[in-house]
Amino acid sequence: MDAVQENLGLLAEETLDPLDWADVQALSHRVIDDAVDYLRDVRDRPVWREMPADVRGAFSAPLPRSPAPLDAVYSEVSRTVMSYPMGNIHPRFWSWYMGSSNFTGALGDFLAAIQGSNLGGGNHAAGLMDSQVVNWCKEMLGFPASAGGTLVSGGSMANIIGLTVARNVKAGIDVREHGVAAIEEPLRFYGSEQIHSCHRKAMEALGLGNRALRRIPTDAGLRIDIAALRAAITDDRAAGFKPACVIGTAGTVNTGAIDDLQALAKLSHEEGLWFHVDGCIGALIAIAPENAHRVAGIERADSVALDPHKWLHAPFEVGCALVRDAAAHRGTFAVTPEYLESTPRGLASGEWLHDYGLQTSRGFRALKVWMALKEHGVEKFGRLIDQNIAQAVYLAGLIEAAPRLQLAASPTVNIVCFRYQPGLTGEALKALNTEIMLRLQEQGIAALSDTTVHGEHWLRVAITNHRTRREDLDLLVRETVRLGHEIATQGSAPS
Ligand SMILES: *Cc1c(COP(=O)(O)O)cnc(C)c1O
Repeated sequence: MDAVQENLGLLAEETLDPLDWADVQALSHRVIDDAVDYLRDVRDRPVWREMPADVRGAFSAPLPRSPAPLDAVYSEVSRTVMSYPMGNIHPRFWSWYMGSSNFTGALGDFLAAIQGSNLGGGNHAAGLMDSQVVNWCKEMLGFPASAGGTLVSGGSMANIIGLTVARNVKAGIDVREHGVAAIEEPLRFYGSEQIHSCHRKAMEALGLGNRALRRIPTDAGLRIDIAALRAAITDDRAAGFKPACVIGTAGTVNTGAIDDLQALAKLSHEEGLWFHVDGCIGALIAIAPENAHRVAGIERADSVALDPHKWLHAPFEVGCALVRDAAAHRGTFAVTPEYLESTPRGLASGEWLHDYGLQTSRGFRALKVWMALKEHGVEKFGRLIDQNIAQAVYLAGLIEAAPRLQLAASPTVNIVCFRYQPGLTGEALKALNTEIMLRLQEQGIAALSDTTVHGEHWLRVAITNHRTRREDLDLLVRETVRLGHEIATQGSAPS
């Protein structure tokens, strides 16, 4: 190529598109075939397994500077990433609190990425679908259609959205303009001592500080003690604080306890406080016919955080914040810089969805939720929630009937806490059960987590899984008893 040609711009420009689309098509068909097999056969693989050193080493390889064929790239991903998953799509994954994803949702994520749309704003289908899925969330919870709302990365962000609106509405000053330092009477938020840790992070990020979130004692069922809450509000008023917001939890992480949402709605109304519900676990119980009564009152909240990547099993990530007063919601976040002004027609004439949260660019999260809801209908998702709750009751029955297994309490929803108890106490009992949990993971049998309830250590099973069958729970109980016996008779459990 000589200098003259170069000056004329005759060099071929580069692109990320393939040179040969037919090659990519063949490879893509293989990827899809492999993906279908992967999900179909998930039950036959271990829930989780430790990564060998050579696989782990692949993740410290340096920045690639020159190209590699796509099929080689895919082979590596298959050998490393796809072979060593967290395991939450497996029927016997019950750790922490996750959903188990679904194939249709994965197709939705793929198509959303193919379209590549940015949901910050604009007049296009993805933006309309994003608003439609928010509207469907309102409908599922019995929220008014006039409410505001937004899809976010997950429950933690959804809670931050709700609490930010609460702070701004209750501050008594223009916090956006003057900042929290200008608030005259320090604000107080309230939640139970079982509240999720994301609320602490939210209080810190909002500039109110951890101590502005008062943890209220709970009753025997680990639900917020309403009388204690009322007393705390009265004390705070007398001490010169401004009670601003009650955070109810619809499903705590430790045990699934659901605060009395009707009582909290009434109290918040009487006291003039914002009522926020952390419904990351339980808000969607509203669609489950046999259990919906457990979250009655959620529709009276000023704001709710819910998590479609948990009990709707959408591929991660998608959370949703709903705010009853749409104007207050928009008023908390909307800013219109000169480079994002809307136009009467054309691409920029749609609603600017970034006015309802902190992100400017936003991914097209709605499609994966929309496609799965459309395919199965919301009633099936409701039945799957009822099914998980019934499975938790079934598991509790197995535990009660099994030798040396001890149940912490009857499950309220889908979380069961239990342990193997051969007559030990304190640290020895904890070490034994921790060892059972680790061997269940390492032998690929089941993934559980553990927690402390009423000062006692327990293994914890959270069944948010549309693939779990009762036979999986039978196996869990059998294997826990087997491992417990094995470890207990080996002498002291390694700690
Ligand atoms: C999962 C959960 C959260 C956090 O949600 P993410 O989607 O993980 O950010 C908050 N509160 C409760 C009760 C939860 O279970």
